[in-house]
Amino acid sequence: MKMIPHSRPSLSRNDRAAVAKVLCSGQIAKSREAEALEGAFERVFSFVSAFAVPSGTAALHLALLALRVGPGDEVIIPTHVCTALLNAVRYTGAQEVLVDVGEDGNIDPGCVKRAMTRRTKAVIAAHMWGAPADMKALVKLGVPVIEDCAQAIGASIEGKQVGTFGVLSVFSFYATKMITSGEGGLIGSGDRQLMSRARDLADYDHQRTYEMRFNYKITDMQAALALSQFRCLERFVCSRRRMAARYACFFPSLLPLTEGAEPVFYRYVVRTAKNAERVIKGAKAKKVFIERPLFRSLHQYLGQKGFPVSDALMSSCVSLPFYPSLTAVEEKRVIDVARSLL
Ligand SMILES: *Cc1c(COP(=O)(O)O)cnc(C)c1O
Repeated sequence: MKMIPHSRPSLSRNDRAAVAKVLCSGQIAKSREAEALEGAFERVFSFVSAFAVPSGTAALHLALLALRVGPGDEVIIPTHVCTALLNAVRYTGAQEVLVDVGEDGNIDPGCVKRAMTRRTKAVIAAHMWGAPADMKALVKLGVPVIEDCAQAIGASIEGKQVGTFGVLSVFSFYATKMITSGEGGLIGSGDRQLMSRARDLADYDHQRTYEMRFNYKITDMQAALALSQFRCLERFVCSRRRMAARYACFFPSLLPLTEGAEPVFYRYVVRTAKNAERVIKGAKAKKVFIERPLFRSLHQYLGQKGFPVSDALMSSCVSLPFYPSLTAVEEKRVIDVARSLL
């Protein structure tokens, strides 16, 4: 029997043609395709400006730099995320302050409030597993919120899209994400000044004065692929929501808790009373790759204590193979194997 991976991109003939067109043109560095991608994001998210970058991590780094976060500052981030957020904070020389999450795995605004100090320069709110974090409560706290939409492009709260609540928003086009260009990302904002600083720092060439800058430009091959994928986003989201409704007949999903949230089901995360590690091993033996939704939490990496909700999620949650390119036959096998183990 063939193995069923945990993630698999949906790549179409249009995607391949979009990349081939760039290769044939000879213009492969950041240029027209990236501009078209940025324009599409500006229209859809009402950004005054968007800038396509090589990764979500680069977008996070630029977002923090645009807010002039640096040594001596604190940035509040949830513990229940991948290390990309921690890395981006540390690149700037600022100090991360970890906070716990709610039962849905999203940053808890009450915990953020208690963690705020005079040094707090920003909060990064990631919409985990495709479900919106409580943006209204976070924005009310009065600290600039960077919205990390890496897992939740297409999701919304009461009809308003994620990516339109924060002062800056970041996206990732890594191979496992909702839409992909292999590697890639984008930063966008409704604030012209912040974006002009982000753009300035992302490109070292043709600058009048010297400042330590970065080379954070996407290639046009990646941009063409990301744009082609972006055009399929609505279809991908519909397909994921239909699949979620079928999975929900057998396993209640963890998502969502935020009021009015319309998730995109980037991951189908379920809680199990069984030992999560044993479920994962059992599934692997049947060539179905059920995984931990998060490899390790940040406070586990850093040896910190006092994050009970994240700890409970870590020990009880698994993520099922779940993506638009899963065939009906594969889907049935995932459900059968998961039912037998959960
Ligand atoms: C994937 C991801 C990132 C990092 O994006 P890369 O493109 O891999 O650098 C950041 N935040 C979240 C929530 C992610 O899921």
